[in-house]
Amino acid sequence: MNLLLDSLSRRLASAWRGRDPQAGPGHNYQCRCDRPVFFQNSHCLGCQSPLGYLPEAGTLTSLTPVKDSSEFTVTDAADGQRVRRCANLDSPAGCNWLVPSTDPNPLCRACRLNHTIPDLSLAENGELWRRIERPKRRLVAQLLRLGLPVTTRVEEDPEQGLMFDFLRSTPDGPRILTGHAGGLITLNIEEADDAVREKMRSDLHEPYRTLLGHLRHEVGHYYWDRLILNTPWHAPFRALFGDEQADYSAALKRHYEAGPPGDWPQRHVSAYAAAHPWEDWAETWAHYLHTVDALGTALAFGVDASDLEFQAEPFRKEDLHDPADPDAARFLELINSWVELTAVMNELARSMGQPDLYPFVLSKPAVRKLHFIHQVVSQAAGRAAATRLGIVPAP
Ligand SMILES: [Zn+2]
Ligand SMILES: [Zn+2]
Ligand SMILES: [Zn+2]
Repeated sequence: MNLLLDSLSRRLASAWRGRDPQAGPGHNYQCRCDRPVFFQNSHCLGCQSPLGYLPEAGTLTSLTPVKDSSEFTVTDAADGQRVRRCANLDSPAGCNWLVPSTDPNPLCRACRLNHTIPDLSLAENGELWRRIERPKRRLVAQLLRLGLPVTTRVEEDPEQGLMFDFLRSTPDGPRILTGHAGGLITLNIEEADDAVREKMRSDLHEPYRTLLGHLRHEVGHYYWDRLILNTPWHAPFRALFGDEQADYSAALKRHYEAGPPGDWPQRHVSAYAAAHPWEDWAETWAHYLHTVDALGTALAFGVDASDLEFQAEPFRKEDLHDPADPDAARFLELINSWVELTAVMNELARSMGQPDLYPFVLSKPAVRKLHFIHQVVSQAAGRAAATRLGIVPAP
């Protein structure tokens, strides 16, 4: 079963309910000097130790340089595991991820997904790229920790892999549109400019628009192709989200011209999700990733909402896609804790005069779809683990 979801549910059971207030490390990662260090750190500000992110282990670790070499040994690794820095550390991407010293690829698991990076001869593109790579690493780390298949289409896996084009519109070329097609995610890097993104958010009447949200949404389209299309999940997908064979360009045209139907909040996680079943899937998928990540972060920092008054009626088994799912109780704990946590997050934002951090309300149909995604992810993660262990052949 899925390591990330397992550890989340263990921590939900112990920390969230307040039975064990000491549960959880209190912060995300620790340097060998015991100071808290964070996902994006490449050295400790306290003891100056080099630090790097080990994607296979899903952890940030302190490193010991190997004499007369550009390699390091991983502190605390019993077998003295040797690694080197991703070749993008000194680029504008500023990547702090590590690569096993036996891996011939100079780039880490996240950077090797890049098919096209911005033209760095234009001075401002470096900064825009840096702003994209940060949430991209967060995305890739989460996908790996969930146990989802993450391979690069660039060279490893041209059939089923994933890759990114980070592009910018030119005055005489076509306008670059953010989207996904056949394993390639294209992102218009102008979205990394806060003023441009905020203008688009406001023009499109969206309550939330972030780079991480874009990446999570687009990767949702990729996993639809990999995990739903022509699988046993395809029929239940259609029953829940609608028939994706509906004319896609006509649906988007209608959405942008006429706006969403008035009853969208009763059926979808967002207004855009009402445009087409594929968009509904990608929007709900992104919400699932937001939920698992933000809840995991809150628990890692020891947030305890047991004192909160629960304003909403908690969701129950009968609200789920499959009430008989043996994992139903765990999913309900996840989603109900999320509703509690987002109430706290929004109050914090309001007390700073900021817009709500999570400007959404989950309806029962949206929770049914989230549960469906939870089942798909859990099964895919189980299958990936079984493949790694040689129990089932690779698909
Ligand atoms: Zn340190
Ligand atoms: Zn990298
Ligand atoms: Zn989409």
